[in-house]
Amino acid sequence: MQTAPGRVRTKIVCTIGPSSREPSALRALLEEGMSVARVNYSHGTRPEHAETIARAREAADALEQTVAVMADLQGPKIRLGTLVRPLDVAVGDRLTLVDRPEAGGEDGVLPFPHPEVYGALRPGSRLLFDDGAIEAVARSVAAGRAAVEVVVGGRLSSHKGVAVPGATLRGAALTDKDKGDAAHAVACGADFVALSFVQSARDLEDLRAVLDASDPRRSVGIVAKIETRAALDHLDDILRAADAVMVARGDLGIEITPQEVPVHQKEIIRRANRIGLPVITATQMLQSMVENPRPTRAEASDVANAILDGTDAVMLSAETAVGKYPREAVAMMREIAAIAETQMVYRVHESPFGEIEHAQPIADAISDATVRIAEEAGACLIATSTWSGYTARQVARERPRLPIVALTPNESTRRRLALSWGVQSLLIPQYASTDDMLDLVSDALRASGWAESGDVIVVSGGIPVGGGGKTNFLKVHQL
Ligand code: ATP
Ligand code: MG
Ligand code: MG
Repeated sequence: MQTAPGRVRTKIVCTIGPSSREPSALRALLEEGMSVARVNYSHGTRPEHAETIARAREAADALEQTVAVMADLQGPKIRLGTLVRPLDVAVGDRLTLVDRPEAGGEDGVLPFPHPEVYGALRPGSRLLFDDGAIEAVARSVAAGRAAVEVVVGGRLSSHKGVAVPGATLRGAALTDKDKGDAAHAVACGADFVALSFVQSARDLEDLRAVLDASDPRRSVGIVAKIETRAALDHLDDILRAADAVMVARGDLGIEITPQEVPVHQKEIIRRANRIGLPVITATQMLQSMVENPRPTRAEASDVANAILDGTDAVMLSAETAVGKYPREAVAMMREIAAIAETQMVYRVHESPFGEIEHAQPIADAISDATVRIAEEAGACLIATSTWSGYTARQVARERPRLPIVALTPNESTRRRLALSWGVQSLLIPQYASTDDMLDLVSDALRASGWAESGDVIVVSGGIPVGGGGKTNFLKVHQL
């Protein structure tokens, strides 16, 4: 069987790093419910990421599971350079930032290779490290050198983000490093590329233009990370240009304030649900599990509430990348999801998430009817025959109670659907006619254990195949 029925419907994204990149660790994450493996090009090296991606694929194949790979691009983020070892800093400590890519962690010298920032720093400027967890105030500044005093302590390590509120002018979302990293990720077979610090739909079009060179069939999806004020201002345009969206709470909480993040998170989820766009809630979801085998009650509530609000996926960052309990963190997320999902208001006649937007009248009428008819006809599942994944996503946005099985001849679509709430997928051969398609769908469902002869299913899809977003077919079918 390719995907075990009975898995949670919420998808889990795991950031892969030193704590999780060994084949046995990747296998453990997959067994616990990882659907998407994220590699962050802000950290590690290209050869490391290539190896991680290959290992994730091998582990998934061995378990007969599907895993999607998401390559996260750094974007114009200002970061520390490479430290020899992590540095613990305490309130009152004096540190010196120097314009060098590398320096030892000793004697309080920190590599900070951003010459332009020294020019913008003034005595009294605040510096926020690692999504604002650690804070310092500039005391004296010279070209390529700044003395700062720690006001909130913690542990600093290589390539942690640094924000200087009011002083850092952000360039275009897509840097030269990102362009090279994107091409590298595509060559390694990534399914999604995530763009950091998106400010407008234009940024996504720029990335698409870069991807087109190595991905002419457009089988790689673009994830828009929402972490700037400008992105909040242009949210609907960005969502329309993206293939998925991430509520990137770490940097968003610096760009606005942590206090404002919750309401924006809910709004981003609501708007993404409206158009059937997969949405990921990210950053610090089970942060205390970096160090501890148990999460806080607040973290468990955060995960459950994001699911109840309609997120497609929940993400683990440091918890799986560098934490002490990567496997336990995924298991915890899965268990929280399983319980939260029993409380979801599944759609029978009303969408749980309010106004569904109907952009394509025929396709949307069919996905809407699919859910209702399946319930009323006593179907055991909803089968969507899909080429681009559109039909499956439109059904999923209704959050039906019944399982959704996407059947597609398109391997890359199948992997990308690993990010969509509630969608399990099976590969079927290419078909020529509707009868052909129904036979292949029935065979695949029986062979994988999803249904047996006599079961009633509802099948929706697009005929002929390959149209992309042209759902025009609905049948109640007895196997
Ligand atoms: P972003 O803003 O893209 O989320 P980040 O620095 O917050 O960047 P995460 O992907 O959230 O990074 O990962 C959390 C932490 O895990 C990182 O800050 C880094 O310390 C560590 N980490 C992640 N990936 C790697 C890697 N490949 N190698 C080493 N450390 C990693
Ligand atoms: Mg970020
Ligand atoms: Mg992060």
